[in-house]
Amino acid sequence: MKIVTRFPPSPTGYLHIGSARTALFNWLYAKRHSGRFILRIEDTDRERSTDAAVEVIIDGLRWLGLDWDEGPYFQTQRFDRYREVIAEMLRAGTAYHCYCSKERLESLREAQMAQKLKPRYDGHCRDCSEPGPAGVAPVVRFRNPQGGEVVIDDRVRGEVRISNDELDDLIIARADGTPTYHLTVVVDDIDMGVTHVIRGDDHLNNTPRQINIIEALGAPRPVYAHLPMINGTDGRKLSKRHGAISVLEYRNAGILPESLLNYLARLGWSHGDQEIFSRDEMIALFDIDAVNKAPANFDLDKLMWVNQQYLQQMSEADLARAARPYFHEAGIDLAAGPDLNALVSVQRDRVRNLVDLVERSLFFYRDFGDFDEQAAKKHLRPVAFEPLRQVRAALESVTDWHEPALLAAIHGVAERMNEPIGKVAQPLRVAITGAAASPGIDQTLALVGRERTLARIDRALDYVRVRGAVA
Ligand code: GLU
Repeated sequence: MKIVTRFPPSPTGYLHIGSARTALFNWLYAKRHSGRFILRIEDTDRERSTDAAVEVIIDGLRWLGLDWDEGPYFQTQRFDRYREVIAEMLRAGTAYHCYCSKERLESLREAQMAQKLKPRYDGHCRDCSEPGPAGVAPVVRFRNPQGGEVVIDDRVRGEVRISNDELDDLIIARADGTPTYHLTVVVDDIDMGVTHVIRGDDHLNNTPRQINIIEALGAPRPVYAHLPMINGTDGRKLSKRHGAISVLEYRNAGILPESLLNYLARLGWSHGDQEIFSRDEMIALFDIDAVNKAPANFDLDKLMWVNQQYLQQMSEADLARAARPYFHEAGIDLAAGPDLNALVSVQRDRVRNLVDLVERSLFFYRDFGDFDEQAAKKHLRPVAFEPLRQVRAALESVTDWHEPALLAAIHGVAERMNEPIGKVAQPLRVAITGAAASPGIDQTLALVGRERTLARIDRALDYVRVRGAVA
């Protein structure tokens, strides 16, 4: 059997971390079994669905590399098909027209609530044989079976049983003829040959209703797997309170897509103690049966840790490719500084994310404004004048502008002055980078380049001179 999974977001906002995890598990399962992964946009709620949200979802999936084999299908383009199925169900008697007024349904609800009963439709129109009142457009309700139970063999939850008496006759088409979620999802899953429905636990209540509709349509049931919810580290449902919950916010914060994907895979799924998985490894190892029933905790620190592992382990070329758009975003002209591969290789161990990488690397590509106040106060004092002057002269005569020669020049100055290396290197570092922390001074100089280095030392010498005159 060809495995077919799907990701069917409703485009009403951003791509939530939890939805991305659902997409990932469907994608992994399809890939693992050489199946197909379908993207379907569930946009029938026209008031809440927007094109911008569709774009954000697609951007998020693309960024994560969750490519789909089919789609995106749009439910709003399939209304004819839903209408056809509804008509068929009315003919077959598995659905019926309901003319109950809002007022009637409201008072039914109130009466049930007063008796502490679960509000549900009472089947008033279920067996009506008379034509409905003139001028009233009916809704269409599904004729849910009475008696018996629905038994779901859920791949994560195990066996789940729900009595049909718990389920009422739900509306499958509104009075204006538009279909509702339960109908569209079932028709699409059948038409698209979906074999596995992997989705959040919050849909578990919908599943018996949808199974009953599938059976009324004479179609085979898919396999179900309901994924545990994602909570914050405080055990409460993940929400904005816990920080960013939209996938693209993580992109904007400089998290690598590989890291987020890896981290999402571990939310509810595990393979021994392993934490870091390449995409191919995830595909080879992923198994729905190994998904945990208990809610998963979203731990930002852990995500940051995963991100650092990737920053350190990725190939230079991949890291440079990932970083490039962040430099562009910051308005940096990469042609005006060192080769990006060389840059990432010296910065990768020092940064937490790509935004951090850019912020700490600006001085390689353009001149900085003021010196960091603390750093200048400490290192660009009048005593720094002579070391800076001498190191400038030494560097100016370096012919091979590479790390060993640069380091030798700095050491030479320190030795001649009989000073520890820091007395030369620290003022130099502040002069070149504007701050007191940077990669190794030799690496920094090599990447900043000769002209810039000398010009910046001159600027620092002026600064020290003025400061000395004022002091
Ligand atoms: N459109 C539904 C949602 O975004 C998906 C439901 C399903 O997976 O069946 O929650």
